[in-house]
Amino acid sequence: MSSDPEDDYIPWIQQFCELFGHDYFVPVAQDFIEDDFNLTGLSSQVPYYREALYTILDYEVETSEDNNNNNTTTIHNASTPNSNNNSNNNSNSNVAATTTATTASGIAKKAGKAELPNKALLAHSADLLYGLIHSRYIISKPGLTAMATKFERNEFGSCPRYYCDGMHLIPVGSTDIPGHETVRLYCPCCNDIYLPSSSRYLNIDGAFFGTTFPGLLVKMFPEIENQCRIRTNKVNSQDFGLKLFGFKINELSASGPRMKWLRLYPQTDLEKEEYETCEFGLPSGDEESNSNSDMEEVADDDEEDDDDKTMASEGN
Ligand SMILES: [Zn+2]
Repeated sequence: MSSDPEDDYIPWIQQFCELFGHDYFVPVAQDFIEDDFNLTGLSSQVPYYREALYTILDYEVETSEDNNNNNTTTIHNASTPNSNNNSNNNSNSNVAATTTATTASGIAKKAGKAELPNKALLAHSADLLYGLIHSRYIISKPGLTAMATKFERNEFGSCPRYYCDGMHLIPVGSTDIPGHETVRLYCPCCNDIYLPSSSRYLNIDGAFFGTTFPGLLVKMFPEIENQCRIRTNKVNSQDFGLKLFGFKINELSASGPRMKWLRLYPQTDLEKEEYETCEFGLPSGDEESNSNSDMEEVADDDEEDDDDKTMASEGN
């Protein structure tokens, strides 16, 4: 775009988010990463933690490749002139002088020289660290808002289920421990999770999104639950069922739609009461029927609250 070299410089985070298959990620704010509180416990999970952190923050990091030049000169000088001790001493001190001069921070880092990561290792550590920070960032307020914007633009894809009517999906991890499972997509409408449609996401770690995020997003933006409710009502009114020559197949029949109840929602008051009982406790006699009706009232209040709120970004 511009010939100015300063303009050509792309921050590490931006580069990471623009990589192929990384479009589920949002750029984490610099000040979030710089706050040590947000990084608590990560140093034990990520190898070469300091170096990885500096890489993410665009500080210059010394790798073993960078150091190789200096090392070879030292080794060369130490191995060749065994016969001449005086000149050996001299040349060694010369080399020491030059290395301290060339690498400004050389002396401080000399002690840990053997532990310097190579570039590939460092890149992997930086990716891992960024992913773990990302999973924490997207459950903070600015992160949630950024992800909600992506959700609204349907950047995570739509639910493949017909009755979910193209409901937008939310990335989720089935575990918070990295290296176990890749990212999945959660549909708030049918409460199911799906594999991403493109194989490009098959090497994205699910822990980089975490188990908490989708639930929090749905709770923070009640408009999502609202969209689901509209779809659910539509399904209930249409009520698809298999038919043979116009007759519905009995659900108790061996060839009937036995698992249909999994997708059903309580509709009549009696069904709702039954549902509440199942959800909150064991069905019992008269004593608990009062407390059950209380719970139903509470649930109703919640619903009214949800209807009043709208998605924060909807006004845009
Ligand atoms: Zn769905």
